[in-house]
Amino acid sequence: MARIVITGGAGFLGSHMCDRLVERGDEVVCVDNLVTGRASNIEHLVDHERFEFLPLDVSEELDVEGPVDAVMHLASPASPVDFDRIPIEILQVGSYGTHLGLELARKNQAVFHLNSTSEVYGDPHVHPQPETYWGNVNPIGPRSVYDEAKRFAEAMTMAYHRTHDLDVRIVRTFNTYGPRMRPDDGRVVSNFIVQALKGEPLTMYGDGSQTRSFCYVDDQVAGQLALLDSGHVGPVNIGNEHEFTVAELAEKVLAATNSSSPIESLPLPKDDPTQRKPDLTIARSVLGWEPQVELAEGITKTATHFATELNL
Ligand code: UDP
Repeated sequence: MARIVITGGAGFLGSHMCDRLVERGDEVVCVDNLVTGRASNIEHLVDHERFEFLPLDVSEELDVEGPVDAVMHLASPASPVDFDRIPIEILQVGSYGTHLGLELARKNQAVFHLNSTSEVYGDPHVHPQPETYWGNVNPIGPRSVYDEAKRFAEAMTMAYHRTHDLDVRIVRTFNTYGPRMRPDDGRVVSNFIVQALKGEPLTMYGDGSQTRSFCYVDDQVAGQLALLDSGHVGPVNIGNEHEFTVAELAEKVLAATNSSSPIESLPLPKDDPTQRKPDLTIARSVLGWEPQVELAEGITKTATHFATELNL
């Protein structure tokens, strides 16, 4: 049993991570300022004897009493909608938040686990993306607040590893989706499912030919825990290598929800990556991990969740 601090523990990914750790017998300290996290994501855990919630802004403070075996830094708004809405907060949690997390890990001789992102590859010129690819990021574009914050976070993590011999992990996530995404999160999976359930037009940006590789949240959590437990520094890509165009995703959502919503074309946002797909060689060979959930199944589970949450 370990005592693990999870920043962003009330968020979409963080709350699933809390669930899995509590289930497997670990003690969880969940830290979140609820800027994009939601109290409802952890309300089933708050009375558990091995769960504690600290309502802190990890960009400002991260004082945790008692022993700490690992710090998992999962806190960050992650939707392109947030890049315009709260850009400075995103830069702060990637920089100050990462620094405070690293310091907490260093003081406790704990493992520091960074939830980084495929966005470090920007609009990639190499396809699929191996961890050795350095990326193609516009440093002053609208997505840079997230991309560069995560690139800084990776650099800071490696600096602590080299300078203080800190035990670290870096995971790069690819388009994770599933229950507990915010219905108004703004990302394509949540938007399309909610629109389909409401019978509203699906808002497809551009001609829908851009691709993403969508990873169901249970697979993402399993991959990240395999990395945490492995002792491997990384970075390691965790995602699903089945690649879909956004137009194909729209069709899959309409089929899974039995919806006859039309598809509406809207302008493509600036710097929107044209393609994205993880190279999973390291995840497979080092972690022995493999994603299990196909897109159609994951969409159905997510749609069931939204239908209940929104009474649709
Ligand atoms: N997208 C879309 N309609 C939406 C939201 C997003 O067509 O309502 C597109 C978006 O332009 C991008 C892809 O879907 O090409 C994935 O967008 P998302 O925001 O989910 O993730 P990210 O761009 O960060 O990979």
